[in-house]
Amino acid sequence: GDEFAAVLPIADGIDDTLPLVKRLLSAMATPFVVEQNSLHIGISIGIAIYPDDGARREDLMRHADVAMYHAKQNQRGFAFYDNTLDKNSLALLTLEAELLKALTEETLQVYFQPKIAVATGAICGAEALLRWRHPTRGWIPPDEFIPIAEDTGLIEPLTYWVLDRSLALCRDWLREGRLNNVAVNLSARCLHDEALPLQVRRLLDKHAVPAERLTLEVTENVIMNDAKRAHNILLQLDAMGISISVDDFGTGHSSLAYLKRLPVDELKIDKSFVLEVMNNPNDAAIVRATVELGHNLGLRVVAEGVETEAIFNYLKQLNCDVSQGYFHGRPMPPEQFSEILLPVQV
Ligand code: C2E
Ligand code: CA
Ligand code: CA
Repeated sequence: GDEFAAVLPIADGIDDTLPLVKRLLSAMATPFVVEQNSLHIGISIGIAIYPDDGARREDLMRHADVAMYHAKQNQRGFAFYDNTLDKNSLALLTLEAELLKALTEETLQVYFQPKIAVATGAICGAEALLRWRHPTRGWIPPDEFIPIAEDTGLIEPLTYWVLDRSLALCRDWLREGRLNNVAVNLSARCLHDEALPLQVRRLLDKHAVPAERLTLEVTENVIMNDAKRAHNILLQLDAMGISISVDDFGTGHSSLAYLKRLPVDELKIDKSFVLEVMNNPNDAAIVRATVELGHNLGLRVVAEGVETEAIFNYLKQLNCDVSQGYFHGRPMPPEQFSEILLPVQV
C-alpha cells in the first residue's frame, strides 16, 4: 500500500535516528515532477527503537504503527513511540479490528436524512449516513471511524457495504415513487479504485435501481487533490447516469476553472457556513455567492446544516435548490424514514 518500513542498524536510539528522520522528511518535502506536474507528498514517520520499545519484531512494528498515528496528528511529521500515549492508540488499532468484525456482524446501520426541495418543501431525496453501535462503547460517530477505515483500507468494503444496504433499503421507496433519489458518501480512497464504476454498476443491477436514482457525494478536496485520476472515474460514473455531488463545498480549495470541466451535478455547501448564516455576514456572503456560482455553472445547489426555519426561509430567498438539516429531520433509521415519506399510492 502506501506504507514503508526502514530499518536503521545504528548504535544510539534517539540521537542517531533524528538526523536521519529529518533527512527523510526534507527529501520528501521536495516536490516530485511527473509529466511536468509537480506533486507534493506528505509523509508521517513513526519510530520504535529496539530493545526499549519491543524486543520482538511484531512489537516493534506495532509500536512504530502506533507512533505513526501520533505523527499524523502532531504536525511535525514524525513521532517516537511513547508507551504513555499507547493506550489511546492501541484503542484505535483495536477499533480497526472491531470495525472489520462489525462489517460482518451487522452492528453497522445505515440511517437516512431527508433532502428537501426548497421550492415545494417536499422530500426530494435521502442521504445515507453510516452509524456504528459498538457492543461496549455505544454509538461511535462516523467522523471517528471513517478516518480509521480510510487509513487501513477497510474503507472500500465499507463503502460497498453502505451502497449495497442503501440500495436494498431504498429500492421499494424508489419504485413506488415515494422517493426520487438516494445519496451515498464516497471517501477519498474510493476514487482511486479503478473497479469502482463496475462495482457500482453491479450493485445497481443487483437491486434493479436505475443509475439516475443514485447520487454519489465526494468531498471537494478529494476531487481537487487527485484531479486527474478522480476525473477519469467520475466521467465513467457520470456516463452511467449517476449524479455527482461535491460535498463540503467551500472548505477545500477548488479551482473554479477545473470545477467547470468536471462532470458534477450538485454543489453541497458545507454546514460550517450554513449553521451561522443568519448571524455571520461572511458566511452569508459565501452562501449567497456559492448559490450563484452553482447556478451559473448549471449545477444544483444543496445547503446542509439547516437547523432553523429562518435559515430555510433565507435559502428560499436565495433560490437555493435543496435543503438538508435538523430543521427538516435528523438522520433516522429506515423504519422511521419510511414513515415520513408519502404513503404508497393505491
Ligand atoms: P457529511 O457527508 O458532510 O454529512 C453531513 C453530516 O452533517 C452528518 O453527520 C449529519 O448528521 C450532519 N448534519 C445534518 N444536518 C445537520 C444540522 O442541521 N446540523 C448539524 N450540526 N449537523 C447536521 P454524520 O452522520 O455524523 O456524518 C459525519 C461525516 O461522516 C459525513 O459528513 C461523512 O463525511 C462521513 N460519513 C458518514 N457516513 C458515511 C459513509 O457511509 N461513507 C463515507 N465515506 N463517509 C460517511
Ligand atoms: Ca455527505
Ligand atoms: Ca458536509
